Amino acid sequence: MTKKVLISGASISGPTTAYWLARNGFDVTVLERASELRLGGQNIDITDAARDIVELMGLRDAIADRHTGEKGLRFVDEDGEVQGSFPVDQEVTWTREVEILRGDLAKLIVDACPDSVDWRFGDHITALEEEGDKVRVEFAEGEAETFDIVVAADGMNSGTRDLIVGDDQTEDYLGCWASYFTIPRYERDNDWWNWYTSSNGIIVFLRPDNQGTIRASVNFLSDDSNPDHMSLEDKKRILKDKLRGSGWESDRVAHDLDGVDDIFLGPLHQVKADRWSSGRCVLTGDAAYCPTPYTGMGTTLAIIGSYILANELAAHDDHKAAFDKYERKFRDFAEKSQKLWPGVPDLAYAESEWKKYLINLGAGLAASAPMQKLVALFDGGDDENDFELPKYENRAARETA
Ligand SMILES: Cc1cc2nc3c(=O)[nH]c(=O)nc-3n(C[C@H](O)[C@H](O)[C@H](O)COP(=O)(O)OP(=O)(O)OC[C@H]3O[C@@H](n4cnc5c(N)ncnc54)[C@H](O)[C@@H]3O)c2cc1C
Repeated sequence: MTKKVLISGASISGPTTAYWLARNGFDVTVLERASELRLGGQNIDITDAARDIVELMGLRDAIADRHTGEKGLRFVDEDGEVQGSFPVDQEVTWTREVEILRGDLAKLIVDACPDSVDWRFGDHITALEEEGDKVRVEFAEGEAETFDIVVAADGMNSGTRDLIVGDDQTEDYLGCWASYFTIPRYERDNDWWNWYTSSNGIIVFLRPDNQGTIRASVNFLSDDSNPDHMSLEDKKRILKDKLRGSGWESDRVAHDLDGVDDIFLGPLHQVKADRWSSGRCVLTGDAAYCPTPYTGMGTTLAIIGSYILANELAAHDDHKAAFDKYERKFRDFAEKSQKLWPGVPDLAYAESEWKKYLINLGAGLAASAPMQKLVALFDGGDDENDFELPKYENRAARETA
């Protein structure tokens, strides 16, 4: 009998789960709280075994075509003077080989899903109740329905996670907030990832894209780990308050916020759930094991985890056996990927002119020719996967082989 699955969240992990489930004959509905697909965000990296999965999904060339052409990372001061430069072809580089705008990747995966997938926007789950061999789902807007399986793929601040694992989770707050949004590109902008550290505890990134706009990110220290729901206008107000008088392009970014219609903003938490499932409901992606952007592993974990979850469900009639296998195969890697370098993220922020000076000095030193040579000595150029991807004998794998 065809199993009916509801997936909450249409970003990276939701559509990846939908792709593999639908290719294996499941009846899939994806529910997204926003009124349309959210296409914002900066460049994200696809690393490790996630590269093999996007290849299995037939997306490798399309991803390569959408490369942003970012030349590398530059630390700049308040006058835009370059303090340290890490071009893509250097030993120490922050721009990865396989990188794509988050929104482009989300759209590619959604478009690759079979037509059978039902996409619903502008609604969210309000209650989950197991009834025999089904889950009864209540929605904020639509009529209640029953499904065989419910997947929470709704991100770091997943409300569905609470309904599934309750208190069996911790959210380790990193002491800072991040934001991502898109602003107009000016003539003075360039094709570098420009990183500006202000002395008032904020960091501003401006990065190029392939669409003639600029991807902005404003990051700041804050004691508030649990804000109330923020409207778009609330988010703009918070960001403008932070940007005011912070130097470099801050005033321009504050001004450009007026025309922005989608902002990802919130405190950064590492999500650590003691279990990833309960009954017929299960977590994937940031909802289950958000590592935060400070690891560069969020999208990689979302792709690998969702691939394993969907293929284990396809391989087992018993959902419990599938959830157990998913967790057994992937938990170690997900937990290791959450490891932060000592001092991250605190070291990156400056709350004095002196610390700002030290950060820029450090960037200059790290980017210097002697340091690059030293790193080259220790770096074997090893690009092997750390995670060994399980092989699945299912229809999707056979068709794309
Ligand atoms: C708009 C946006 C921009 C981003 N930009 C960046 C970036 O520039 N750099 C970076 O490192 N990471 C960024 N991220 C986070 C990044 O996408 C994830 O860390 C990673 O790819 C894992 O993806 P995910 O699908 O598990 O979670 P997410 O990408 O966070 O997606 C969760 C999805 O669920 C939706 N959602 C939330 N609550 C509900 C609900 N209750 N019901 C239904 N749907 C819900 C959200 O709108 C979103 O579409 C961004 C996320 C979003 C949503």
